[in-house]
Amino acid sequence: MLWSSRSKKKRHGVLLDYPSPGDSLCNECDAACCRSFPAVNITGIEYNQLRLIGATRLQFSLIGRHKLLIENGCEFLKEGKCSIYEQRPNVCQRFMCQIK
Ligand code: SF4
Repeated sequence: MLWSSRSKKKRHGVLLDYPSPGDSLCNECDAACCRSFPAVNITGIEYNQLRLIGATRLQFSLIGRHKLLIENGCEFLKEGKCSIYEQRPNVCQRFMCQIK
């Protein structure tokens, strides 16, 4: 998957089977992935955890995946960083990007 961030750098994103090793790219990045997708799929447990910490852009589904809506930027993105980094959803933990 390719997308371009505000900095116009081309990035390549991969969803790993396990949490992404290290966060050095997150420290350098302008959070392109947190603004570049419509939603993050979340589990029922994550839905409840995010609701408890104040998420307002959650989408509950009886037949599909629950979602954290991040279109136009995730509500937990603060000053270019994830404000719930240690509690971020599993998909966010497994997402890895590379600058092309
Ligand atoms: S929860 Fe954190 S890592 Fe996941 S999209 Fe939102 S700001 Fe980004």
